[in-house]
Amino acid sequence: MTTDLTVEPTAEPTVRYEAKGPVATVTMNRPRWRNAQNSAMTYALDDAFQRAAADDAVRVVVLAGAGEHFSAGHDIGTPGRDAHLPRPRRAGLWWDHSDKTGAEGRFARESEIYLGMCKRWRELPKPVVAAVQGACVAGGLMLAWVCDLIVASEDAFFADPVVRMGVPGVEYFAHPWVMPPRIAKEFLYTGDRMGARRAYELGMVNRVVPRAELAARTEELALRVAEMPRMGLALTKRAVNQAEDLQGLHSGLDAAFALHHLAHAHNAETGSGPLGGMDVRAMKERGA
Ligand code: ZN
Repeated sequence: MTTDLTVEPTAEPTVRYEAKGPVATVTMNRPRWRNAQNSAMTYALDDAFQRAAADDAVRVVVLAGAGEHFSAGHDIGTPGRDAHLPRPRRAGLWWDHSDKTGAEGRFARESEIYLGMCKRWRELPKPVVAAVQGACVAGGLMLAWVCDLIVASEDAFFADPVVRMGVPGVEYFAHPWVMPPRIAKEFLYTGDRMGARRAYELGMVNRVVPRAELAARTEELALRVAEMPRMGLALTKRAVNQAEDLQGLHSGLDAAFALHHLAHAHNAETGSGPLGGMDVRAMKERGA
């Protein structure tokens, strides 16, 4: 069963949803743009996760990206960029950003669409397995990190080049929890790509598999997890997430989000725009 969950009026489905046995596969579907995450995709993902959570037949969710790359990050420059449009509020009660200016508009938008949605998805009470190939960069990291398990193909790479914008990393600042703090600093200070093998060594991903086997090996793992009882999985997920929160994840995310917005505001105040004068081309030229 495949359903179009897009809210983009003219484009092909932004997110595909397919339920097969106990596994629902949610696939980001903007391959032409390396699955850059615009707001249409964010809300289509949220629809898909809600659907998977509500369907008793679904035990495990797989999050995948169509095409060569998992996700190149937030949409900062495709024709489908839609950051200015109003959106419903689902992750919190911050008001609509689209008619607000300055830091208020940015904070309201990113509280809902980036940090809020990621926190919400992390709490989906069923295991979620990410299948990551190619680029998993910046906003793409956020999507992979909120998943419980990550299966990476050998060609997968991870990077957060956002410091080039003068901003301390992406909005969901889980870096010091998903990798050791000293490695997190190197990852951020250099913006360099981390390969799948290195990510595996650090415990950031669960499996590294050949590219051609990514879908099958992910499904295999998902089916194995799906053998466990639903309530047992939900409570186990909660127990581990709570442990991460007790290690400061939740408050660390909020504290870093405030610094993130100080940086956006500083950039805007000093005349280079909230992204520090960087766009897709400038980021590419600097190796991001
Ligand atoms: Zn931001």
